[in-house]
Amino acid sequence: MKAVAIDLSHPIFLHVSQAAARLGIDVYVVGGYVRDQLLGRPCKDIDFVTVAPASAHQQHGMELARLTASLIHQDLQVNYFKNFGTAQFRWEGLDLEFVGARKESYMRHSRKPIVENGTLRDDQNRRDFTINALAVSLNSASYGQLIDPFGGLGDLEKKIIRTPLNPDLTFSDDPLRMMRAIRFATQLGFTIHPETFEAIKRNRERIQIVSQERITDELNKIILAPKPSSGFLLLEESGLLRIIFPELQALKGVENYEGKGHKDNFYHTLQVLDNITKVSQDLWLRWAALLHDIAKPQTKKFVEGIGWTFHSHEILGSKMVPKIFARMKLPMGQEMRFVRKLVYLHLRPIALTKEEITDSALRRLLFEAGDDLESLLSLCEADITSKNREKVKRYLIKFEQVRERLKEVEEKDRIRNFQPPITGEIIMQYFGIKPGKEVGVIKEEIKDAILDGKIRNDYDEAFQLMIELGKKLGLKKSDQA
Ligand code: ATP
Ligand code: MG
Repeated sequence: MKAVAIDLSHPIFLHVSQAAARLGIDVYVVGGYVRDQLLGRPCKDIDFVTVAPASAHQQHGMELARLTASLIHQDLQVNYFKNFGTAQFRWEGLDLEFVGARKESYMRHSRKPIVENGTLRDDQNRRDFTINALAVSLNSASYGQLIDPFGGLGDLEKKIIRTPLNPDLTFSDDPLRMMRAIRFATQLGFTIHPETFEAIKRNRERIQIVSQERITDELNKIILAPKPSSGFLLLEESGLLRIIFPELQALKGVENYEGKGHKDNFYHTLQVLDNITKVSQDLWLRWAALLHDIAKPQTKKFVEGIGWTFHSHEILGSKMVPKIFARMKLPMGQEMRFVRKLVYLHLRPIALTKEEITDSALRRLLFEAGDDLESLLSLCEADITSKNREKVKRYLIKFEQVRERLKEVEEKDRIRNFQPPITGEIIMQYFGIKPGKEVGVIKEEIKDAILDGKIRNDYDEAFQLMIELGKKLGLKKSDQA
């Protein structure tokens, strides 16, 4: 046992300690909270594990939660999860969870009844990594002492992710731990111990028994990490990526034809993802970065005289977004629509840098991007990757000009959330017609005329154009109009 300074000054620790003493049981702080304290990371979740004599009944975790809560405040609400033998309550922004130590393998979400009281060591054995198996005593004889049976403290110092027991055993008990290993390595900037990593490779197929929701949670945490590429490289190297995200795996590799190769789209995508990380914390913008080129493998073609092309990959890619979101059990509402839209539009601002920039092209982009313009521009900027630094610089300067021009046009014409001034109802009423093709044609042409600058964004001018367009279509003013 080592004495390591863990900050136990928060009053919760004294309350828990006193309550446990009254109940005649032992209690420890364990897992993520201890790890994060030692790393100096903020942590609002505290897990307490209780240990009682084998003869005691098995609800001591829940009892400790009840007594602690009542010591703090008369009517503090405690939630009990009888099936898991756990109890939880919130206090002062902390999320406090209590569980009795057990013997059987760790299954946070399992419905298996608790079979047997375990020792602290039993409980530490079923944790996933040495750095997550650290415990701190809250018992009077050893208050504040760190119990570290697997060298978790050393692994924290050496920045190593390693399973406490034989990794094949740990991973086959709960294969999600393979994803967790990669997620922690990515979040903390740690290395996975070679033996642990080899075991991930051996056990990778077992990931298929894990629910998609749990896998996606870990994937999102990797995407939200400071340098998500390192997680995806580990997923690829371990062979997990091929199983959980075949579309991303398919981006890897370079084909050569007549001595010409194309960019490796896997590494390019990871670079774009890392780039966007520097300007945004938004999970969905990061997803857009991850998926922006997702249809490149399917659209790849070598064209004589031109080279490698990926024609319409943004269109096919945007169609793949809802399918991938549905399979990953990601939200299918506005988050999905945002990602789909960004994938669809991701070439447009760049295309603008390559031609004479017309107001009309700028207005169209403003109109289509709407409120997502800033996100789209960030994605496009992140998409400018090349080994040639000069080239990147040149592009970025041109891109800055596009930004400026967009701002000018927006200030002048207010197109961003523009709704054409003539609605379908106005058209139908004026010509006395029912909903149908003509209404759509007239609306579209009015919108185009405004975006192209042929008429101003103004009711009277649009109304005049409507009359002319109607005439061309053989429509007449209705008697009721
Ligand atoms: P985070 O809160 O960032 O997800 P964490 O390590 O706190 O990280 P939790 O899911 O909150 O993770 O779990 C708390 C503790 O419970 C972990 O530190 C670990 O000891 C244990 N634990 C969680 N999930 C598992 C698992 N699948 N297998 C083994 N132990 C686990
Ligand atoms: Mg936690």
